[in-house]
Amino acid sequence: MREQLMATAFPIVPVAKAPMGRTPAKLIDGAAGAIPRADPPSATRAARILVLGGGFGGIAAVRRLEHLFGSRPDVEITLVSRDNFFVITPLLFEACSGRLELRHCAQPIRPALRRARFVEATVTSVDADRRVVRAVGPNDGTYELPYDQLIVALGATTNEALIPGSEAALTFKTMTDALVLRNHLIERLERADAAITAAARRRCLTVVVVGGGLVGVEPLGELTAFAGDVLRYYPRIRREELRFHLFEAGPRILPEIDAKLADISLRVLRGRGADIRVSTPVRAIEPERLHLSYESIDAGTIVLVAGIVPSAVAAAFPVEHDRRGRIVVNQAMRSLSHPTIWALGDCAAIPGPDGEPYPALAQHAIREARRLAENVAAVVDERAPAPFVFRSLGTMASLGHAQAVARVFAVRLTGFPAWWVRRTYYLFQMPRWDRRLRIMLDWTVALFFRPDITKVDIATEQVQMRDERASSTRRSGGYIAEQANFAKGDADTRTKARA
Ligand SMILES: Cc1cc2nc3c(=O)[nH]c(=O)nc-3n(C[C@H](O)[C@H](O)[C@H](O)COP(=O)(O)OP(=O)(O)OC[C@H]3O[C@@H](n4cnc5c(N)ncnc54)[C@H](O)[C@@H]3O)c2cc1C
Repeated sequence: MREQLMATAFPIVPVAKAPMGRTPAKLIDGAAGAIPRADPPSATRAARILVLGGGFGGIAAVRRLEHLFGSRPDVEITLVSRDNFFVITPLLFEACSGRLELRHCAQPIRPALRRARFVEATVTSVDADRRVVRAVGPNDGTYELPYDQLIVALGATTNEALIPGSEAALTFKTMTDALVLRNHLIERLERADAAITAAARRRCLTVVVVGGGLVGVEPLGELTAFAGDVLRYYPRIRREELRFHLFEAGPRILPEIDAKLADISLRVLRGRGADIRVSTPVRAIEPERLHLSYESIDAGTIVLVAGIVPSAVAAAFPVEHDRRGRIVVNQAMRSLSHPTIWALGDCAAIPGPDGEPYPALAQHAIREARRLAENVAAVVDERAPAPFVFRSLGTMASLGHAQAVARVFAVRLTGFPAWWVRRTYYLFQMPRWDRRLRIMLDWTVALFFRPDITKVDIATEQVQMRDERASSTRRSGGYIAEQANFAKGDADTRTKARA
């Protein structure tokens, strides 16, 4: 049955005999299938461009490729990604606080594509000699996807290797992370409200963010605002009982933004009572406990956002990598060791004009993707690729409470104007108007009402429902047995009466 389903999704066609315009994905379903090395594109076979990762970089690359190739039948474009949606990460904080409906910070991939084929699967490895990518589909079937040009945009994950015990902390990278953190915070408020001891109450009301970059400062700002707004539903908790800490190992917060704006952010957050310490490395994390060099802090919520590492899958690809595991490419974003492989975004080290790699930011990933798509199109049409050169347009950091800091084209903005510019910019990163309208509606509603504190803890709910079902099955099993005994007894009585 599974084979049948997979075969419908991917016709099993020998690679060399593929009809023009359709990527044959060979289903190997666990066993290593023998696919010959991909033939070069020819008059009978389209050039196959395979894009891995449906995030900022992958989606921008595919959309640019679609635009460049139009409906040309001699080129086919396939996008493989783990999820069937992509996330506008700078909106995740608002999804966490409930100002934005969680699904609205993401865009389904299929409606965003015009002609490219989408495959929902998790990439596991690449065989660069045979030019095939291996991936596992949602039903555990294994695919082999051949390519002529491979674009790797698999992004990065939270670095859990820096601090011992990091796995005990929450992370903030995906939609699931945002949902988990939201549920966790609301749960801690509920527990604090019901706590019997002062220590338990204090622990529940202590939030620690580890890492003072953009991805650390923004959730801290949003959480201070969120907690302040929802406290009216918890009359037994006083505002000053809530403790927010941020620990940064480096000498200042927000290294992505200029020092003056970082100082303003520091003042704003400290003004809300947050304890922010720089040059303060966290030594170890335990469940609900964190150790600095000179003290330990009990905290019900610990969020780890202290740096990223490239996707483990991309770091294991058989191509040249740098010390941090990023794929080493030239200025045209082509792998130095394998010219049919290209990489961009957080999983690549793309040298800028000064030789330093470009930062791991969405604005860079989007521009890199467009240039990279043009370079791949050039190679397909036997032209020379061009280097990627980009000067940042600026950086923006939201601080919650309709406050932000921003540097846009060398102009510094703070407070509400910065916040408005930031929101508007990321709103337009959504590729489709239906999503943009939903976001605008959410924001408008959030202006007039306090954040929702509904907690949807799917895992816990599933366990609770399963237990409930099991116990009602046991109860009804007992009832059925009782009924059966009763019926049997009744029948025996009737038999005896007849006798
Ligand atoms: C919370 C947060 C806030 C941020 N805020 C900002 C900001 O304000 N401004 C800014 O410029 N940048 C910001 N960033 C950084 C920005 O999100 C990244 O730089 C950008 O997403 C990098 O794009 P990418 O395409 O390289 O990777 P991603 O966008 O992470 O995309 C990677 C894609 O690959 C998929 N994938 C991963 N592994 C596999 C696999 N094995 N198989 C199949 N698919 C896989 C993932 O599901 C994902 O779709 C933020 C990041 C976070 C986490």
